[in-house]
Amino acid sequence: MQELLNREKITRKILIVDDEFIERAILAKMLDGLYEIVYAEDGVKALEIIRRDKLKLSLVLMDLYMPELDGHSVLKIMQADSELRRIPVIVLTAEENAEVKSLQAGAADFIKKPCNQPDVVRARVKHSIELAEDSIIIHQTERDTLTGLFNKEFFFQYGKLLENKRDHAPMDAIILDINRFRIVNELYGQNYGDEVLRKIGGTIHKLVNEVGGLACRVNNDIFFIYLPHRNDITAKIQEYISMIEDTLENKKITFRIGIYRDSSHAGEKFEMERKFDFAKLACRKLRNTYTTRFNFYNEELRKKEIHSEQLINDIDKAISEKQLKVFYQPKYNISGDKPVLTSAEALVRWVHPEFGFINPGDFIPLFENNGLIQKLDIYVWKEAAAQIKSWREKFGVYLPVSVNVSRVDIFDPMFSEILSGIIKENEIEPEKLLLEITESAYVDNAGQIIDSVSRLRELGFKVEMDDFGCGYSSLNMLTALPLDALKLDMAIVKDICVNQKAYRLVAIILEIAKILEVPAIAEGVETIEQLNLLKEIGCDIVQGYYFSKPLPADEFEKFFS
Ligand code: C2E
Ligand code: CA
Ligand code: CA
Repeated sequence: MQELLNREKITRKILIVDDEFIERAILAKMLDGLYEIVYAEDGVKALEIIRRDKLKLSLVLMDLYMPELDGHSVLKIMQADSELRRIPVIVLTAEENAEVKSLQAGAADFIKKPCNQPDVVRARVKHSIELAEDSIIIHQTERDTLTGLFNKEFFFQYGKLLENKRDHAPMDAIILDINRFRIVNELYGQNYGDEVLRKIGGTIHKLVNEVGGLACRVNNDIFFIYLPHRNDITAKIQEYISMIEDTLENKKITFRIGIYRDSSHAGEKFEMERKFDFAKLACRKLRNTYTTRFNFYNEELRKKEIHSEQLINDIDKAISEKQLKVFYQPKYNISGDKPVLTSAEALVRWVHPEFGFINPGDFIPLFENNGLIQKLDIYVWKEAAAQIKSWREKFGVYLPVSVNVSRVDIFDPMFSEILSGIIKENEIEPEKLLLEITESAYVDNAGQIIDSVSRLRELGFKVEMDDFGCGYSSLNMLTALPLDALKLDMAIVKDICVNQKAYRLVAIILEIAKILEVPAIAEGVETIEQLNLLKEIGCDIVQGYYFSKPLPADEFEKFFS
């Protein structure tokens, strides 16, 4: 940091405010060559410049008596503004007793007019600037106590200073995120977790010091690293990874690294924050890998990001204009001689005016990340409930329909009220609107989900655990979970005819369902062989292309005849 704030190297900008031209000229002459100087001839103009250049100004030298807005008023306005307050102001006046008054009003220092001692002026200006810069540092806890790295706020502040100092030469943004750090903490304990962070932080610290960069730690287990750009970054990253791995000596700890290479968009210059957004995106692409890997931000990711942003912008309109279509896929009970239609699953599709038909896999994860999923889900629940009602009235078929429930929905304190409202409005029983909750949701916040789901079941709703068998929930927890059906993950069902292990796994899950006294539902069933095998080993309910793809409501009605 000493290096960063190297006071000789950065030319600071100061503002001289005086209504008399001659006074401005005298001061400018004294400070010429030492600072970049801008001028204002009254308080109003001064404030304009101060607001415009608030991040760049290091000091204001200001006369107290001026037309329009005087120095006292400018000081007062600056003091009331948290962003402007950090800029030190030295007041200039001939009036004897203005000194105390202006210091009390927040001035950093005071110079008596006429200003005829250049050395005094220069010393006071320099001193005030240094004091102000030091106090920013002292007033905020700039470093992370665990690793000695900067905290995020300072990281970006100093990053910008460093960019200035380097004349805006390219700098690469790198994000390092530890894979499943929560599990590291759980497995080895918090102290060990802290030790891991300290070691990684220490290595990164050493590295950035060597190459003249900066680093910080955010959100516990994520490191931001800002380094002067180099063409051989790919090779270097490998080297950095080895350095970190060597200090850790625990092969089980792995990380993912996202990199924004500051040369990838020739001609385009991005702000530091934006570069880290890009690096984050590259890192996020590695989310489901559990080995150490790195990934560069590129054009393709950029296009995807723009596409995602557009979808996020369009969702409200999609709901109000009914661009979202709910499709229904039948579930059949296969325990008897002939398959019997037992229910349907509501699956959303988006018919976008520009992009056409979009599958949920391309937009659901996007909305899960930012909470927008709740709007979408509620819309689908309402549509599904209305459909149950309509089929009942039209065909006399009172078919249960399952809807998907996202993690975000469950944490809304109004969750059960919303659902109750929907079934009441459509005059259907709660057990007709089945709720599918994915297995991984249970694992993340078991306690809260159990409470929430228990409430729903008391109200008469039925809950199916979706995607079961991905290997997240522990078996002993299963008995504590309130649920009414186990829905096997499609990935294991897919392989039952070709892979002995998958077959055994499905058989075991069916056993578990028996112990829990709930039906098992297999989805993704595409062939008669899969169907027969599932039937043989006691699977009750089946969903999949073998019977039908998800269909629009009117086409689904063919199953009623
Ligand atoms: P999911 O809940 O596991 O739904 C089953 C997915 O498998 C559906 O994909 C369905 O079309 C597909 N599928 C059904 N049978 C077969 C088959 O035999 N073979 C193959 N290969 N696939 C089959 P879809 O409709 O693309 O939905 C994907 C995921 O999007 C769903 O997975 C669910 O997690 C999510 N989703 C869909 N609609 C909603 C919704 O309204 N709200 C929420 N939160 N998520 C939804
Ligand atoms: Ca589902
Ligand atoms: Ca599923």
